[in-house]
Amino acid sequence: MMKDQTPSKRYKIGDLVPTSGAYLCVPCGYVQEFEEGTRFITCEACFAGTPDGPEESQDPNDEFWEFLP
Ligand SMILES: [Zn+2]
Repeated sequence: MMKDQTPSKRYKIGDLVPTSGAYLCVPCGYVQEFEEGTRFITCEACFAGTPDGPEESQDPNDEFWEFLP
């Protein structure tokens, strides 16, 4: 039971940041740093998770931030 790596876990706007570090915006490829304990916001490059986001990522429940190990 030494499974501490969850492959490709994604986060949406408003989720708590579990680990400080760089996160990839999957729809556009932008990388942004987030601090542990803060909450994810939209991607400032493509506005994923908002009505202004890419066509496939306009839903606020869309999980598009992916941790970069
Ligand atoms: Zn983006």
